[in-house]
Amino acid sequence: MGVRAATTAHDQPPWPKVGSIGIKDPLMKLPLLGLDLLQIRQALGEAFPAYRARQIYEAIYCQRVGSIEEITTLPKWLRQELDTRFTIGWPRLRRVFESADGTRRFLLELDDGQLVETVLMPEPDRDTVCVSTQVGCSVGCKFCLTASLGLRRNLSAGEIAGQVLWVARQVGLDPHRRQLNVVLMGQGEPLLNLEAVAKAIRLLVDPQGFGLSVRRITLSTVGIVPKIYELAKLEPRPKLAISLNATTQEQRAQLIPIARKYTLAELMAACRAYPLRSWERLTFEYVLLRGVNDQEADARRLVSLVGQIRCKVNLIPFNPAPGLPFQRPEENEILRFQQIVQRSVPCFVRWSRGVDVFGACGQLRCMELAEKEAGSGPRSESGNLVATGPGFGILRVGPGGPAKLSPELDNT
Ligand code: SF4
Repeated sequence: MGVRAATTAHDQPPWPKVGSIGIKDPLMKLPLLGLDLLQIRQALGEAFPAYRARQIYEAIYCQRVGSIEEITTLPKWLRQELDTRFTIGWPRLRRVFESADGTRRFLLELDDGQLVETVLMPEPDRDTVCVSTQVGCSVGCKFCLTASLGLRRNLSAGEIAGQVLWVARQVGLDPHRRQLNVVLMGQGEPLLNLEAVAKAIRLLVDPQGFGLSVRRITLSTVGIVPKIYELAKLEPRPKLAISLNATTQEQRAQLIPIARKYTLAELMAACRAYPLRSWERLTFEYVLLRGVNDQEADARRLVSLVGQIRCKVNLIPFNPAPGLPFQRPEENEILRFQQIVQRSVPCFVRWSRGVDVFGACGQLRCMELAEKEAGSGPRSESGNLVATGPGFGILRVGPGGPAKLSPELDNT
């Protein structure tokens, strides 16, 4: 059957104008990524039968086609017409770095030229994708490079979900065939962009679309207390991780300026009230900073704070970085801290991944900015540009450019 035969009377011109989910500038193409099925129907307009929207939705979220031209369930003439009004809306690959441990770090360019980092961490039995939710961040954690960028803007639902779908398309991930975890732990504070985050989650877990299990999504927050209560009512709701990092109000307020507004006492009350499902534990993340929050007394206070909550603790040893005034504890100190905590609470050390490929939140983007600004970024003793951050090692960008670029990935 030829493509023209797929046409129905409903598809006939005159074509509808840009629909109610349209765009202000009629010359701009509307990105389809980020629209749900109903919104695609609205964007197409009344003149199209509903099944056309379903075909487009499945092409984007199930098949993850690269362009409208690739939606071969539509007749060719229709694809050509749609291509004048719509685009899929994929981010563009700016750089990719592949670590010896298999971690891949992608620097992705958005429609307006802003850059975000997305990380793929493969393991023998599962893959984990770490996505950003904002361009930059306004929270200002003292141990994080992203803080130095400030907040540029929120990401849209399509830009958040799009990072997961883009990686899935590039490397062939399929949540139906192999376990896929998504962690909202990249650039930005997800709870300060909750509306878009919630929609991105709805899109990712739709069984008619990408079909990710909501149990496989974890949202990490520094503790935006009113938004934690809001998150508790969300459906579908991801798992929650709290980036705690300190055990007294005074110390927390020093490390995380926004903790002056949302106090440790308020945060812990929100955690105790959080409606955990039968299969769920809260996660507390704790960046270990030598001589700051890594003492035995800190470990004991940590236990007394979280011990009554069904939870686990992830310890994240900090890596020293030029421009950040902290040091990483010795390994025996890290393990001693873990031993104290795990007497009462499951406690794991999250050893760094991808240390050779600009691993920390904000690292790639800082490096890109530093290069752009002709050497104004942090420098190593040898004078090379350096990009670094809390969970990972110091990365040097030598005169010959950064680490290995993976040639097999196309630049969608
Ligand atoms: S650690 Fe997270 S919340 Fe804190 S500044 Fe960095 S990106 Fe923002």
